[in-house]
Amino acid sequence: MKLFLGTLMLSILLMSCAQESAQEEDAAKFKAVDVKNMDRSVKPGDDFNQYANGGWIKNNPVPDDKTQFGSFSILYDNNQIKLQELVLEAAEAHAPKGSIAQKIGDFYNSGMDTLSIDKLGMEPIVKDLEQIDAIKSNSELLPYIAEMQTKGSNSLFYFFGSQDDKNSSMVIANFYQGGLGLPDRDYYLSDDPRSAEMRTAYVAHIQRMFELAGCKADDAASHAKRIMALETRLAEASFTRLENRDPFTTYNKMSIAELQELAPQVDWKAYFTALGLPDLAEINVRQKPFIQETAKMLQEVALDDWKSYFKWNVINSAAGYLSSDFEQANFEFYGTMLSGQKVQRPRWKRVLGNTSGSMGEAIGKLYVEKYFPPEAKERMLKLVSNLRLSLANRIDNLDWMTEETKVLAHEKLDAINVKVGYPNKWTDYTDLKIEEGQYYQNIINARIFSFNEDIAKIGKPHDKEEWGMTPQTVNAYYSPNANEIVFPAAILQPPFFFMDQDDAVNYGAIGVVIGHEMTHGFDDQGRNYDKVGNLNNWWKEDDAKAFEEKAQQIIDLFNNYTELDSLHVDGELTIGENIADFGGLNISWDAFQKTEQAKTTDKIDGFTPQQRFFLSYAGVWRQNILDKELARRLKEDVHSPGDARINVPLYNMDVFYQAFDIDETAKRYRAPEDRAVIW
Ligand SMILES: [Zn+2]
Repeated sequence: MKLFLGTLMLSILLMSCAQESAQEEDAAKFKAVDVKNMDRSVKPGDDFNQYANGGWIKNNPVPDDKTQFGSFSILYDNNQIKLQELVLEAAEAHAPKGSIAQKIGDFYNSGMDTLSIDKLGMEPIVKDLEQIDAIKSNSELLPYIAEMQTKGSNSLFYFFGSQDDKNSSMVIANFYQGGLGLPDRDYYLSDDPRSAEMRTAYVAHIQRMFELAGCKADDAASHAKRIMALETRLAEASFTRLENRDPFTTYNKMSIAELQELAPQVDWKAYFTALGLPDLAEINVRQKPFIQETAKMLQEVALDDWKSYFKWNVINSAAGYLSSDFEQANFEFYGTMLSGQKVQRPRWKRVLGNTSGSMGEAIGKLYVEKYFPPEAKERMLKLVSNLRLSLANRIDNLDWMTEETKVLAHEKLDAINVKVGYPNKWTDYTDLKIEEGQYYQNIINARIFSFNEDIAKIGKPHDKEEWGMTPQTVNAYYSPNANEIVFPAAILQPPFFFMDQDDAVNYGAIGVVIGHEMTHGFDDQGRNYDKVGNLNNWWKEDDAKAFEEKAQQIIDLFNNYTELDSLHVDGELTIGENIADFGGLNISWDAFQKTEQAKTTDKIDGFTPQQRFFLSYAGVWRQNILDKELARRLKEDVHSPGDARINVPLYNMDVFYQAFDIDETAKRYRAPEDRAVIW
């Protein structure tokens, strides 16, 4: 349950992606390039996604318990099965109390014990609701929020530690906007029909949940109305997703006295005391207007409205772990209404996800011992070093960057730290208490553990051994503050990494992922950080201007890419990820050229090495997605949808045209002088 929100981690796919497949395909048999997945009635120059993936797209509709389905899903699913085996082994070991195996086993079993969970109903949250009823005045609200945060429940705003953007060797405290039950501020404020529909459904959902919690219909409706009004005011004070991408406006380090001046309506000293940090010296207020408005509201808004709001937070954040009536209602709104998912994932997968989310590195340690071959790490390190050389070479050859800035770009590239597989140092779970038959309490205990772990870091040097993802996570990331790229063990499997297939398919998949993560150090956000991870403008003005012009070209390309009826990709929101995809492809292609295979045109399964590179890349991003989920992601996800990740960058690469003999008669042909490239 790590909080990713404030710590900038630029990943290869949606962070909260928890998709998996019903189709269990053996990873070892996964072919990177397979004609049965293609549609050769379409020309590669007209629609490469359809050409490379048309067969697969036709034969693999989204299963009922999912909102999207792609290559990732197959890997994710295989991984779930491995994780379940580990967890069941732990559960069956009847290990001594306090051991890791006992904790993993009891956590999982407590979640699977639906008989006990259903019998308890809403019992686990009754005390929390009574505590809210006992609040007597508005001045008690902020200390109450602090107390909830110590239990890992962040209503209204988030509090957490992260590397200081301007002094990355140290960890500082942060405030980050929050408090909304819908996934984004725009749902409250936009007048498009989809947002309006979601607002109506959300109010009905709140009412339904209060009724489940024992309220009369009239009272429940009144709660819902007032909660919606309060959240709408919070939404108005919130930054947009785009504003939150700006590392400069979200850096506002101040002393507690300055915070008191910024938002004087509440007693911040009392808040930090309740949080267990009475001597905290400074804090980075990521969104100043939000904290100002929150303080005002804590003073102005009627206490009864606040009580409704905090009760809703308790019910809403617990709903997924309570009896099946709560859980099902919660799913019907957050799964079906927002994303179109028809049925819930099987319970074992949900509980497994929560177990892995709560005790990530405990399970991760077992995972790598059993499933991660040391040869994979060696091969990865070699690939990373080849990719680093090819990016260095590309920097030397840039025609838009001055020599002075190039020197600093090289320094930053050379300094990128690489982590592969798993951490050298594991989290110690001694202080985490897990008991059988106490699912909800176990969830809370894990949140408390995570909160304590987090605040213990504040005010101390950043620990370079720390990982922001667990080894069993199918993803990868770049951290601008640490200037490092990180590849968890679980991504080193097909369709990314093929231990025994040719170089072309590996460079087209995991090679591009490596290049993607490296490029994040030089995307529109990452380029603002220097080689030690400080927010520090190392660019000459003309170079920055040239970069921005080139980035604008990519923004325009995606803004013009239509997905669903009139919906298009948001070129500005996705620019960082798109720059990383463009860079990843070019860098990996160059590195691939140094291999023996790239010097030949020997076909495998009917395709040249050059063609296999691009087909393998397209295989990574093939996807079917529900309309509702697509509409949601176009608003919220900084990553472009799979088809755009294929069909936009490739038609901007000269070598792609050569590999498939594409000429100017092709539908997606772009003239050489119009092709975008930055890195
Ligand atoms: Zn990324």
